[in-house]
Amino acid sequence: MKNIAILCSGGDVSGMNPALKRFVEYTKEKGLTPFFIYDGYEGLIDNNIKEASYSDVSGIINRGGTKIGSARSKRFMQKKYRKIAKENLNTLAIDLLMVLGGDGSFRGLDTFYKEHKVKFCGIPSTIDNDINGTDYCLGIDTSLNIIKTSIDAIRDTASSFSRAFVIETMGRDCGYLALITHLTSGSELCLIPEKEYNLKSYENKFKTEVANGRRYFIAIVSEGIRQDSQEIADWFEEKVGIESRVSVLGHIQRGGNPTVKDRLMAYKFVTHAVDALLDGKEESVICYDRFGFNFKGIEEVTSKTKELDRELLSYL
Ligand code: ADP
Repeated sequence: MKNIAILCSGGDVSGMNPALKRFVEYTKEKGLTPFFIYDGYEGLIDNNIKEASYSDVSGIINRGGTKIGSARSKRFMQKKYRKIAKENLNTLAIDLLMVLGGDGSFRGLDTFYKEHKVKFCGIPSTIDNDINGTDYCLGIDTSLNIIKTSIDAIRDTASSFSRAFVIETMGRDCGYLALITHLTSGSELCLIPEKEYNLKSYENKFKTEVANGRRYFIAIVSEGIRQDSQEIADWFEEKVGIESRVSVLGHIQRGGNPTVKDRLMAYKFVTHAVDALLDGKEESVICYDRFGFNFKGIEEVTSKTKELDRELLSYL
């Protein structure tokens, strides 16, 4: 019997728990023994590794976050700790590894492979959707739906009280969440790092709209733009002439009941990843693009920044 382990690294996302459930069930079906590594690479170094059972994953499919914890690990950047991590895996005879994480986590995994030949498959999991080579990362759909619900609620108060709401979304340098939200929430303004903007170009239009009876504005701004959200709100007050408020959505975007899409993507990502490791693939990331599911090398996934879909960008 072969032993296989999974860990979550970097920012957690909704969809990790459904992935853990599928991992336990599918690996057992395939005659493997599944292990959980708790708290990311930290747990790998500290030997916080335990065999996983069906009962560990019962009742978690509807929960956001991850039952086995996630972490960033400074120690894993150092060779001496990666050696300890490898010794821990050796003790438990684990030589197959799956990691739910972002490109940083995959870079760590690649270094680990080069030094110790631990075969791995990465599963893209980040609400930033910024991993090159994949059009979908686990957690995105839940995040977008949480944002949608929040904005629908904000719209109620914005329309009742005649205000401009500047709503800040996460995504680091990637404006994906903001752009999709803009297109699906009917906002008046969307600012993202990928597109240069000039607020002055909106001034006359917005002022005319207010004069013609517009009672409120919804502006979606991505956290990575060159200005603070408060500066955008100040611009609404000073130049458009409407009272305004900033709403930073923050970490609610990472939580919540996983959507059907994220549960299904978790199921498929994990199934493909386990199959790949059993087929002898040694170092890959399971990606999803217009060709469906396919495997990409670490180099392709981590060497470039992902570009926003041109069609989507053209709508802005
Ligand atoms: P994400 O996976 O979401 O991009 P980070 O960039 O924070 O998150 O990376 C997660 C973890 O991956 C880091 O805390 C570190 O432990 C590990 N890691 C990242 N880059 C490397 C690297 N070059 N070598 C070793 N470990 C790394």
